[in-house]
Amino acid sequence: MNRLRASDDSRAKYFDPKATTPCPLMRQHCRSYRQIARHALASCTALIVVLGTALLPRTAGAQRPLKVYISVDMEGIAGVVTGDQLGPTGFEYERARTFMTGEALAAIAGARDAGATEIVVSDSHGNGESLLIDQFPDDVRIVRSWPRPLMMMEGIDSTFSAAVFVGYHASTTSPAGVRAHTISSANLASVSLNGVAMPEAGINAAIAGRFGVPVVFISGDNVAVDETRRLLGDVEGAVVKQAISFHAASTMTPKAAQQLIREHVKAALGRRSAFKPYIVRAPVTLDVVFKNYRPAEMLAFLSTVQRTTSHSIRFIGKDMIEVSKFLEFIGTYEPGLAP
Ligand SMILES: [Zn+2]
Repeated sequence: MNRLRASDDSRAKYFDPKATTPCPLMRQHCRSYRQIARHALASCTALIVVLGTALLPRTAGAQRPLKVYISVDMEGIAGVVTGDQLGPTGFEYERARTFMTGEALAAIAGARDAGATEIVVSDSHGNGESLLIDQFPDDVRIVRSWPRPLMMMEGIDSTFSAAVFVGYHASTTSPAGVRAHTISSANLASVSLNGVAMPEAGINAAIAGRFGVPVVFISGDNVAVDETRRLLGDVEGAVVKQAISFHAASTMTPKAAQQLIREHVKAALGRRSAFKPYIVRAPVTLDVVFKNYRPAEMLAFLSTVQRTTSHSIRFIGKDMIEVSKFLEFIGTYEPGLAP
């Protein structure tokens, strides 16, 4: 159900044009201008009170569908530690897909426990085709594959009440964390918004914030959860593994992690009114540091891109949607694209 349409309906009910004309009582009995003025004032006050009540933001949960957006990555899933789990050529990828699917389903269950009525899940790791979609409830929508204008947040809009991040990892500028990287471990050394180095959780929270949607939960290793909390504040967190190094962790079992995620997603949504959207002020200055020289050199051929150092460029977007499209473009475009 569309939140805007719902409130429009309720507003329309109170915008009765008759309410703005003098009532019959007034016509019959009011004689003096002073009486008319007093009556008009009373009518206006009553109208303002009724309108005010109709237009006030409703308290959490009251009559509004609870739409939840769930973005799922893989590096922060319990048991996932190396490339052996993270891609189709890894000997344990098929098994890791079931772990990832299990954690996404646990987040859905936790959201349902909290009263969620609509859920969109984005399959946001690697080829975007890791989740086993036939295991999902039939009323859930799943965003798959690339490219997507809103990257790991494709499908979000202002009708959602909350965003949930599952299986997330630390940023490329973090000195710790399993598989710590930002967007591309092969190509990017840093991604900053308005001068602040961001993990994927920060970029994605800023996209959600562009639509007024707060992030309420994150799961991953301890480093990813801590890093996100430092940036976004006290979001609910589920630490499913302790990072030991880039390719090592002390991990929970999938089943234990799923239980933890379900409980904390439920708790997060239960106190969703405590969270604020993460707003990055527009226009947004995006700074990208590449691991290699030539991407910065070539991108600076574009008049909208400024080269800031040998390996870095700057792009100023009018908002996070434009920044997201630019990031998706520089990560996906290559001249040999086909079809
Ligand atoms: Zn990933």
